[in-house]
Amino acid sequence: MKEFAYRRATQVRDALTAVAENAGARYLAGGTNLVDLMKGGVEAPTRLVDIRQLQLDGVRDAPDGGLVIGATTTNSDAAAHPEVRRRFPALTQAILAGASGQLRNMATVGGNLLQRTRCGYFADLSQPCNKRVPGSGCSALAGVHHNHAVLGRSEHCVATHPSDMAVALAAFDAVVHYETLDGAGEIPLSRFYLPVGERPDLETALPPGALITAVALPGSAVNPRSRYRKVRERASYAFATVSVAAALDICDGVVRDVRIALGGVASRPWRAHSAEAVLRHTRPTTDRFRIAAEAELDAAEPLPGNGYKVTLARNLIGAVLGELAGTENDR
Ligand SMILES: Cc1cc2nc3c(=O)[nH]c(=O)nc-3n(C[C@H](O)[C@H](O)[C@H](O)COP(=O)(O)OP(=O)(O)OC[C@H]3O[C@@H](n4cnc5c(N)ncnc54)[C@H](O)[C@@H]3O)c2cc1C
Ligand code: SF4
Repeated sequence: MKEFAYRRATQVRDALTAVAENAGARYLAGGTNLVDLMKGGVEAPTRLVDIRQLQLDGVRDAPDGGLVIGATTTNSDAAAHPEVRRRFPALTQAILAGASGQLRNMATVGGNLLQRTRCGYFADLSQPCNKRVPGSGCSALAGVHHNHAVLGRSEHCVATHPSDMAVALAAFDAVVHYETLDGAGEIPLSRFYLPVGERPDLETALPPGALITAVALPGSAVNPRSRYRKVRERASYAFATVSVAAALDICDGVVRDVRIALGGVASRPWRAHSAEAVLRHTRPTTDRFRIAAEAELDAAEPLPGNGYKVTLARNLIGAVLGELAGTENDR
């Protein structure tokens, strides 16, 4: 690991200044991703600014009936919060589907959003990778890519985003709040992650040096009838092969509102707008769920080694919606 300076910030402005004055500085939250990448030489910050002493943790009510989750709230605390569990159960399920108890006790909400891809070539300094070294090439295209993207990928990068939590946040239309030395700002999660395009190293719409302060879940998205399901290669301690976060609002036997987001299939949480459009104002039947899932997966462009994800995503959307509607045994 390369030598680096360490500074602990106790005020948001101090943290912003400590990062702004050193081009190689990075925020350190739980360190569960950043420190791993530093050990492997993938990241080499010259200064770490520890933000765990900032008063940015905790979950509070928002005036619109939603919730605001502070950026340094641990994944464990966010998942266990009674109002997160009651108003946004899919978020609790998504967080608990990730990593391990020990990691979730350290990992924070802000750090989870900004964790880097688990593409093996990204972590392997001997291999070309456009995300790590722009312009060097993408080893996964002709290499091992069975767990890579099938939606919204580009010829420059086919990696997936690894966060479970972000998939549920995408389904609930979360908004990321941040601070810079020029003032505060917010970005809807739908625009937080940049489309992969020609510069896969540019991952988010955050301004340079911005500190994430919180994630807000709008009151309009509150739905106790929501669910997160994750398919993975082993029962725990594994990233998603495909995951689905969904919420269903049925009134008088008709779908009044529906929210679906997919994980493990794209460079960012994938909001399934096409599937949602097929379902709104229709009767929630198994057939309708299948048609909706097919509408979403029409856009898929699998690689030679990951076509199975298209079938898996299609089936998982149907299964989760069936569970939420109580139609899973209708087949
Ligand atoms: C073995 C293992 C298994 C895992 N499995 C899963 C899984 O199945 N699902 C899943 O979703 N995750 C999984 N994870 C990832 C884990 O959830 C992340 O490592 C963690 O959420 C990152 O949070 P952190 O606070 O430790 O971030 P850090 O490692 O401290 O930081 C990560 C990045 O975010 C930046 N950052 C952190 N906070 C802020 C902020 N407030 N503002 C601006 N920048 C910030 C840092 O500078 C750094 O670039 C796993 C990790 C490990 C090690
Ligand atoms: S898929 Fe992306 S992260 Fe993986 S090797 Fe290609 S450019 Fe790098």
